[in-house]
Amino acid sequence: MGETVIPLTDLRAAASLPPVPEHAGPPAGRVVDRLGRPLVDLRISVTDRCNFRCSYCMPKEVFDRDYRFLPQPDLLTFEEITRVARLFVAQGVRKLRLTGGEPTLRKGLETLVSMLAALRTPGGHPLDLTLTTNGSLLERKAAPLAAAGLRRITVSLDALDDAVFRRMNDVDFPVADVLRGIDAALAAGLAPVKVNMVVKRGTNDHEIVPMARHMRERYGPRVVLRFIEYMDVGATNGWRMDQVLPSAEVRARLDAAFGLEPLPAAAEGETAERWRYRDGAGEVGFISSVTQAFCGDCNRARLSTEGKLFLCLFASRGHDLRALLRGGYDDDRIAAAIGLLWSGRDDRYSELRGRAEAAPGSGERRVEMHYIGG
Ligand code: SAM
Ligand code: SF4
Ligand code: SF4
Repeated sequence: MGETVIPLTDLRAAASLPPVPEHAGPPAGRVVDRLGRPLVDLRISVTDRCNFRCSYCMPKEVFDRDYRFLPQPDLLTFEEITRVARLFVAQGVRKLRLTGGEPTLRKGLETLVSMLAALRTPGGHPLDLTLTTNGSLLERKAAPLAAAGLRRITVSLDALDDAVFRRMNDVDFPVADVLRGIDAALAAGLAPVKVNMVVKRGTNDHEIVPMARHMRERYGPRVVLRFIEYMDVGATNGWRMDQVLPSAEVRARLDAAFGLEPLPAAAEGETAERWRYRDGAGEVGFISSVTQAFCGDCNRARLSTEGKLFLCLFASRGHDLRALLRGGYDDDRIAAAIGLLWSGRDDRYSELRGRAEAAPGSGERRVEMHYIGG
């Protein structure tokens, strides 16, 4: 049976120009939003293109041959990305995640990684620099990325069964190539590798236990498998609540199969709830953005491929930082503009989800995830 696919309204043009103070001194090194949440994590989308068409993210019916991806001149250059990342670091960011679309499709990605790896916190420490990928090109990219200074990696993999995986990526991509990519990442020293599995009830929930078994038996603690609740991101995937398998149910299935025990509370702002196998075979995580909102300590900002800042995954409007980067403003003024935007933030979509004002489809259309980065 076909999926319901909602046609796309192009929200990419909807961005506001951030207010920039006339004069600004050096950034303070920490900024908190209206709910007291610090700015710590910046996710940077380096391309809006992808070689997969996962139905929950870029359904083929919408992202087809006629879809207009961003033209090259609209993309932030590596120099612009590095400059703006440096200004975010000056405002408190400690963690950078490269994402997309499929980030490994961006030409010369290793060069960008080496430029970002050279950044330091005000205290002189390197940043936590990581990448989320579908793993399709990882077999040959893992070693150069690690050599360029990448410190960690997350690989998305929704099924171990080849037929199920090919159906979910919708481009007939084989699972074996992604598994070889995970091996290559481990061989390149990127352990522990996180593997993210989006669980969609009736599509791949029968793959939960086989996937866990494979990862435990083959890799043990060197791979941390994380189960993500299928989210109502964007406006094209036709999301329905009955397709969400709550993390509690995923956990119960794993507990019955292998035995689990909770790990102490994760670091502040950490999205995954951590558990471990009782027999010591490693750790699993649960990202329950639908059934257990974690907006309370959300410290994540997202930068789109063309330099728009999104303060929430479910925002419908970005703030055009590229206009500042290309507009002749000095570093202190741009850092101050970033600080002002963050200090005005009060987003908490997941906590409001289900209430009338945020019911899916009832409010403003949301921007697509491949564009602002997951
Ligand atoms: N292409 C890369 C990948 O798939 O890892 C990076 C970008 S992708 C948008 C980032 C993450 O978002 C992936 O782990 C993907 O599974 C997740 N994702 C995309 N759409 C989602 C949805 N509707 N619900 C939950 N997770 C989703
Ligand atoms: Fe591409 Fe990642 Fe979205 Fe799948 S989840 S379509 S791999 S960007
Ligand atoms: Fe953060 Fe928005 Fe997700 Fe809440 S809904 S956790 S504020 S990104």
